[in-house]
Amino acid sequence: SFQESAPKAWPKAKLTSNARVILEKRYLKQDNGKVVESPEDMFYRVANVIAQVEERYGKGKKEVQELAKEFYTMMANLEFMPNSPTLMNAGRDLGQLSACFVLPIEDSMEKIFDAIKFAAIIHKSGGGTGFSFSRLRSKNSTVRSTGGVASGPVSFMKVFNAATEAVKQGGTRRGANMGILRVDHPDILEFISCKEDNKEITNFNISVGMTEEFMRAVKDGRDYELIDPHTEKAVGTLSAKEVFHTIVDHAWRNGEPGIVFLDRLNRDNPTPQIGEIEATNPCGEQPLLPNEACNLGSINLKLIVTEKDGKAVIDWEKLRYVTRKAIHFLDNVIDANVYPLPMIDEMVKSNRKVGLGVMGFADMLILLQTSYASEDGVEYAEKVMNFIQTEARLESQRLAEERGTFPNYKGSIYDGVMKLRNATLTTIAPTGTISMICGASSGVEPLFAVAFTKTVMDGTPFIEVNPIFEGYAKEYGFDSPELMKKIADKGTVLGFSEVPNWVQEVFVTAQEIDPEWHIKIQAAFQKYTDNAVSKTINFANSATREDIEKAYELAYELNCKGLTVYRDGSRGEQVLSAGTSN
Ligand code: UDP
Repeated sequence: SFQESAPKAWPKAKLTSNARVILEKRYLKQDNGKVVESPEDMFYRVANVIAQVEERYGKGKKEVQELAKEFYTMMANLEFMPNSPTLMNAGRDLGQLSACFVLPIEDSMEKIFDAIKFAAIIHKSGGGTGFSFSRLRSKNSTVRSTGGVASGPVSFMKVFNAATEAVKQGGTRRGANMGILRVDHPDILEFISCKEDNKEITNFNISVGMTEEFMRAVKDGRDYELIDPHTEKAVGTLSAKEVFHTIVDHAWRNGEPGIVFLDRLNRDNPTPQIGEIEATNPCGEQPLLPNEACNLGSINLKLIVTEKDGKAVIDWEKLRYVTRKAIHFLDNVIDANVYPLPMIDEMVKSNRKVGLGVMGFADMLILLQTSYASEDGVEYAEKVMNFIQTEARLESQRLAEERGTFPNYKGSIYDGVMKLRNATLTTIAPTGTISMICGASSGVEPLFAVAFTKTVMDGTPFIEVNPIFEGYAKEYGFDSPELMKKIADKGTVLGFSEVPNWVQEVFVTAQEIDPEWHIKIQAAFQKYTDNAVSKTINFANSATREDIEKAYELAYELNCKGLTVYRDGSRGEQVLSAGTSN
C-alpha cells in the first residue's frame, strides 16, 4: 500500500561490507535468487509496517508518516535494531516478528507431539523455542494406557532435536531450542549428562532449573527430594552437593548444562496470576510463560558516545530519544505481528512483553577509554541500564495512557504501582547477527579479538582490525602492518610494548578478563533488566572445576538469573560465541 523505496532525501545506511553480505544472504527480498531490495528499502519496509499500527489507535496519515521516518532513521543510522525476524519478515508473507517463544509440554503423548509440531512451525518463521521438560513423568514410570513404561524427558528431547534438524534445511535461520529440567526431577542426572558427547541433542541449549530449596541444601550439605511430576510424590533423594558437583563438572567439560534460577524468574514474574514461569528462550535471556512470545530490540551503545570539550562522554539526550522511540516501536510490533498460533496471539496480546536491550557495550567502554574489567566498567553498565529502564518505563506509561495498560495488568505486580503498557520492557539479547549488521560488539560481551585473520572467497587471507583500535593506532602513532599481523595472530594486544598501556587495558578481550568481572558486568545489567541477560562467562583452558563452582556461587550471590560458562578449547569443534567477528 506504500511505495517500496525510501525517499531519496532520507539518510543512507552506513553499512560495512560484512554487514551488506549478511543482509543480502538472509534478510533482503530476493526474486529467483537475485536480491531485489536495498538495505534502505528493507528499513523502509519495516518502518512503514510498524508505524502503520498507529492507525489502529486513531492516528492520521501524517502522523504515521512522521513516525515511519523516525523509525527508519533510527535503523538506517544503526542506532536501534529490532531482532532478526522483524527485519526479515515485516511486510512480507510470513509476517512473524518475534525471536522468542516458550511452548508448554504436558505429560501426554498427544501434547508432546503437539509441541513438536508447534515448534516446527515457529522455527520455520525464524523464531526460537524454549521448553520445560519438567512435567514429563520420569523414565521407567508406568504408562497406564499401554501398561508399559515411560521413556522420560531426555528421550523425548531427542525427538524434538530430530524434528528441529529436519526443519533447519528449509528456514532462514537455524532452529534453536532451550531445554530446561527442574533439579528435583527424578531424571536430573541423565539430563545433566545428556550433551556429554557433544554429538547428540545438538539443536538444544540445556539448563538445569535450580530452586532455592536446592541451593539451601547445597549450602547445608543436605540431601534433597526428587519429585515425580506425575504423582507429585517424592520418589527418592540425592545429595545436593553431589548433584551440584556433577553440574559443575559437566559445565567444566564442555559448557553444558547452564543453570537458571527458577525461583528468581518467578520472583520477577510480572503476571503471577496468569501462571508460573518454567522456561526461557534458547539463549536464556527471555523467561516466558507457556505459549508466550516476545519481540526484542537493541540500542547500539557504540553510537551514543559523543565528544564534549575534547572528551568522550555519553550523549544522554540521544539515549533518551532512542530508548523512547524503541519502546514505541516494539509495542507496535506486538500488533503488527502475525502469530504462528491463535493461543500465542492471545497470550502475547494479554501481557504485551517487549525486550529492549543493548549492543556495542564493549565498544562504548573503549570509546570512553574504560576497561571492561574495572569498577568503572561496572558503574557504566549500571548507569546506562538504569537510565534505559527508567526511560523505557516512562514511554510505556505514556503508551498506557494513550492505548491502555496490558490486559493482564489487574493482579500483576504493577497493579496499583504504575500503569504500564507492557508487562516487561527490558532484556539483554545476544544480538548475534544484528550486532554484525550494526558493526558493533555483541550484546554486553567484551571484545572477542582485537584483530583476526579472515580468509576471503578466493582464499586470500586478510587482517580485520577492530576499527576503534585502528583509529587509536593512527592517532597515537603505533600503526604498522607488522604489528597488526602480530596482533591478529594472537588475537589480543596484552603485552605488546608498541601499544601504550592504557590502550592495552581498554582493549582487554573475553579470554583475558577474569570470570569475576564477567559476572559483575552481567549482574550490573541484571539489576536494571526486567527479563534476563544473555552472557557467556569465559574461562581460560586451565581453569579448574573449583573456579567454575566459585563462579556459580558468585552469580547466585549477585542476583543473576542464570549462568552460562565456557572454558576455552573445551569443545572439540569450538562454537565461537556469535558476533566473534567484532
Ligand atoms: N534465535 C534463534 N535462532 C538463531 C538465533 C537466535 O531462534 O539462529 C532466537 C533465540 O531465541 C535467541 C534470540 O533469537 O535467544 C535472540 O538472539 P540474537 O539476539 O542473537 O538474534 P539477532 O536478532 O541478532 O539475530
